[in-house]
Amino acid sequence: MAEKQYYTTIGLEIHAEVKTKTKMFCACKNDADEERPNVNICPVCMGHPGTLPRPNREAIRQVLRVGSAVGGKLALEFTEFDRKNYFYPDIPKGYQLSQYKYPLVNGGNLNGVELTRVHIEEDTGTSLHEEGDYSLLNYNRAGVPLMELVTEPVITSAKQASDFAKELQLLLRTLGASEANMEKGEMRVEANISISEDPKVFGTKVEVKNLNSFKAVEKAIEYELKRHEALLEKGEKIVQETRGWDENKGSTFSQRQKEDAHDYKYFPDPDIPKLKLGEVLGFSELELKNSLPELPWKKRERFLKLKIKEEQVETLLNRPDIEEVFDKVVSKFSENNNAVIITANYLTTDVVSLKEKGGKIPDAENLAKLMLMTTENKLSSRGTKDILAIMMAEGGDPEKIAEEKKLLQVSDTGAIKEIVLKIIANNPNAVLEYKAGKSASIQFLIGQAMKETKGAANPKMLQEMFVESLK
Ligand code: ADP
Ligand code: MG
Ligand code: ZN
Repeated sequence: MAEKQYYTTIGLEIHAEVKTKTKMFCACKNDADEERPNVNICPVCMGHPGTLPRPNREAIRQVLRVGSAVGGKLALEFTEFDRKNYFYPDIPKGYQLSQYKYPLVNGGNLNGVELTRVHIEEDTGTSLHEEGDYSLLNYNRAGVPLMELVTEPVITSAKQASDFAKELQLLLRTLGASEANMEKGEMRVEANISISEDPKVFGTKVEVKNLNSFKAVEKAIEYELKRHEALLEKGEKIVQETRGWDENKGSTFSQRQKEDAHDYKYFPDPDIPKLKLGEVLGFSELELKNSLPELPWKKRERFLKLKIKEEQVETLLNRPDIEEVFDKVVSKFSENNNAVIITANYLTTDVVSLKEKGGKIPDAENLAKLMLMTTENKLSSRGTKDILAIMMAEGGDPEKIAEEKKLLQVSDTGAIKEIVLKIIANNPNAVLEYKAGKSASIQFLIGQAMKETKGAANPKMLQEMFVESLK
């Protein structure tokens, strides 16, 4: 292991496909699920001469919403699109329409990480390199609106980097700005990594691309940090370059030495007018802010106050279907924290797995009823689970189901006391044994009481009452 101490610096560049009906600069469909190649294309996104791009208002609005959520400065006074020139077969125009000097959003903060900027650009097509001396190109994705978010170099660990990416995914989904599925390439992370002995001077950075899962983000960064340390320990230099991540090998590999911004010869696109968004869009910064839904971190704060477990809070945040019914049920339990906790327990375990098996989430009315019956000890936990399964398969009122299936527990103190006294009177031998110190005899008495009630008595209450009555 390293003998010296190194300071880790990480900055992320994250791309996300913006959810819109049409592409960024033309009327072609933006449809990630289209499987037929080259059907959503037109002369504009194919870069034919003489065509004119027209910016997509909705894509711009979505990126501004992201900017508003993270507290960035929105470019409502002035923004423009630039050409980023390079040749690659998946980029039919020979340049990518992007933003350079005047991004839609400057600054902001997400999960404690300072942001540099958020801008909008167009995605590339996809290429398929098959056996043989040819490649296949699909331009359905060419021109799809792509948001790029860049962080400041302030992240200090692999875990913090993947936590940041998770929070961004959550935000994008909450806003409906992007589906942000990493495995579908709708959200793609690039990590810039460097280490240095001197906390005041950055080391040489390496950029790792193709990170398409949170695991990959963490593993690739950890791998790079070790590689950098080993090189520095040997007295060697880090080469500034772009590397790829090989999921199977669990290692990074060199792709190309780093190009500089000037290699792209950025310049403002002469076909697209400069935009005074404040005048064009028809809403103010404040109106935009007020139209945002409850943001993930606010929601987290609200849920944590309910004293439910942290991992349950994360499940709720990532499962809008579960969260929706949770919110409704819990609003009926304002003063009953026990019921809230029990609801969180059942929703994040049983309901999640029953839904996976094809069940339907119960409506809030019936679920609340079931949760109250559980809290009031009218059901055993087995009983609750059975009723929940029936409710999610067929629907129905939990009280009726409980009666039909004889799942109601007798928890009425008076009724149980009566049974306990009766069993004590009828079983003098067991009582004597218990009093002589054979504590197991109480299990026999509880068993008799359960038999008497055909399993309907609350066993915990029976136990307590027998102990009490036999004192
Ligand atoms: P480039 O022009 O090479 O793309 P930028 O300055 O635009 O570099 O930064 C790109 C990303 O790299 C940003 O996320 C930034 O925070 C990060 N970054 C910059 N310098 C470093 C460094 N020394 N170590 C780690 N990350 C860095
Ligand atoms: Mg870069
Ligand atoms: Zn098109």
